[in-house]
Amino acid sequence: MITAGIDIGSATTKAAIVNKNRQMLGFSVMPTGGNNRETAEVVFAEAINRSGIEKESIQKIYTTGYGRENIPFSDRHITEITCHAMGIHSSFPKAKTIIDIGGQDTKGIEIDPYGRVMNFVMNDKCAAGTGRFLDVMARALGLAVDDLGRLSEESANVIKISSMCTVFAESEVVSLVAKGVLASDIVRGIHNAVAERSTIMLKRLNVNQPIAMSGGVAKNRGLVQSLESKLGASINIPENPQMTGAFGAAVLAQTAKKAQG
Ligand code: ADP
Repeated sequence: MITAGIDIGSATTKAAIVNKNRQMLGFSVMPTGGNNRETAEVVFAEAINRSGIEKESIQKIYTTGYGRENIPFSDRHITEITCHAMGIHSSFPKAKTIIDIGGQDTKGIEIDPYGRVMNFVMNDKCAAGTGRFLDVMARALGLAVDDLGRLSEESANVIKISSMCTVFAESEVVSLVAKGVLASDIVRGIHNAVAERSTIMLKRLNVNQPIAMSGGVAKNRGLVQSLESKLGASINIPENPQMTGAFGAAVLAQTAKKAQG
């Protein structure tokens, strides 16, 4: 059986095509923009194209993410938390805790040995500590978000960013630049601030190892290193962490009877 998962997130829309062995045959990602339905259609078509399969061979399409209820060709919509849990479980069957940092929220999820959600915590009230926070800081430094990880690895001095409010932290970064502080040290400070905030949130959970991370921010190696050092534990990252929700939705479509909404 071939299934599809589409994750309509606040920042990006992702589609994954999966076979019965839980292998991703193809995937696609693009910014969500203003028209959820149209973006979902384009991303889905691209993922099918890259999978080298016929659209008709897809038996079920599950949607997730904040725009999940708005897709007319969806067979079922499921919360991101459930989909990230299944996506991580399929990549790391022993994982017990998930840190998911996406465009506009941060989540911590405890999962059982079957990849089912036992408990979760979430910050979706404020951009602080999310991908959006990192995007704003990268822009203030004149950098692309993909450069942040590499740059922070070059840092030799620890700089503390004291504001966590996105607007104030942006001003703080601008004044540090004006004082001649190296961008690498500023970026390391930004990563430490995000890691600190996420770690405080995770204290509301039982953070058991192995820990895994999902969401686009998991592509930022520098941020992952800051988190590992705050948590005192290593973090497993799937090959395509941004695809975890879409992948999990497609896997849940494979195991429809065992799925939960
Ligand atoms: P959502 O599911 O909420 O739409 P994503 O999981 O796609 O969000 O995450 C989006 C965030 O991921 C962006 O705000 C950005 O900070 C981060 N991101 C995306 N690609 C990269 C990259 N190549 N390197 C570092 N960070 C990235």
